[in-house]
Amino acid sequence: MARRAILPMTLPEPPPAALRLKIDAAAIADNWRALDRLSGGARAGAAVKADGYGVGVAHVLPALLAAGARDFFVAHWSEVAAVLDHAAADQISVLHGVSTLAEAAYARALGVRPVINSLHQARLWQEGGGGPCDLMIDTGINRLGIAPGEAGDPVIAALDVHTLMSHLASADEDAELNDRQLACFHRIKAQVKHRDLSIANSAGIALGANFALDLTRPGVALYGGIARRELAGVIRQVVYPQAMVLQRRRIGPGDSVGYNATFTANAPLEVATVAIGYADGFLRCRGPGFAMHHHGYDLPVLGRVSMDMTVVDCSTCPQLSAGDFVEIPFDLPVDAARCGLSQYELLTSLGKRFTRHS
Ligand SMILES: *Cc1c(COP(=O)(O)O)cnc(C)c1O
Repeated sequence: MARRAILPMTLPEPPPAALRLKIDAAAIADNWRALDRLSGGARAGAAVKADGYGVGVAHVLPALLAAGARDFFVAHWSEVAAVLDHAAADQISVLHGVSTLAEAAYARALGVRPVINSLHQARLWQEGGGGPCDLMIDTGINRLGIAPGEAGDPVIAALDVHTLMSHLASADEDAELNDRQLACFHRIKAQVKHRDLSIANSAGIALGANFALDLTRPGVALYGGIARRELAGVIRQVVYPQAMVLQRRRIGPGDSVGYNATFTANAPLEVATVAIGYADGFLRCRGPGFAMHHHGYDLPVLGRVSMDMTVVDCSTCPQLSAGDFVEIPFDLPVDAARCGLSQYELLTSLGKRFTRHS
């Protein structure tokens, strides 16, 4: 029988990636400070779920800690370890709470707080040994959290609640629901012994001082999202993608570009193939009408975006050649409106193939 070599193989260092994500750590810190200031007497925390909204926890956490953030929120237990590389366990809350005894045991072993979201979760947490936790009251989003009528339940009274929280459904709109949710939260709060009160996400902070309470929980605005118009001019862009040109070619009249030949040249054209596609979060909505940039030159996208490649018109940029990097505009509110997607979706779909650096 042929022996298969399973010798440990040392691979050479890979060459620099053809996709770069420049992360402006100073902008993250500035955004947190601005949100903390807008939170008035309350302190701002930071939602860092989904790998810091796709930006990368390893880059986001140091910037947030240096700025002064002390309270961090993730959704899944699988996200805790990466945050623990930077922050202390008692600074971390897991929004999905505990759904199994295994999760409760993991939470207790680490000293990370679950956000208890139901009477079932409260019982499970106590059964698993209990300890400090947070508690979510659902005041109107009907997604996650105990119902207001459950706040007086003995199993809730037995909890050691650190932060009593609720979540706004329509903070990014001038909706009457915002005030109704806040009023409901204030009616219920006395029924649950707690240390801090928290209801505002990024948009909630911009709703005004009465929403700040003790602790705010901004997420998207930390990463450059303009969650409400009041934050325009306050929040800075954080993410700057760049991609390498793979080749440059000349096409003639009648030649088409890309899948399904959706673009056909009517004159000779210089085109460049760029190493970014929808697998990198550069979705098809960024096709024709969208342009990349190189040293101030516009490079309009031609035809369909592919999985790993996008073709641009480089006729006006004679010096652009293979190996050069082009800039991908990432103006969250503008691109989201163009794409019919949320700013959250654009951030969290940034792919894994970027080398992230700050
Ligand atoms: C994601 C999340 C936040 C942060 O929301 P943004 O809109 O990104 O600011 C705050 N609180 C809860 C419960 C969340 O799930």
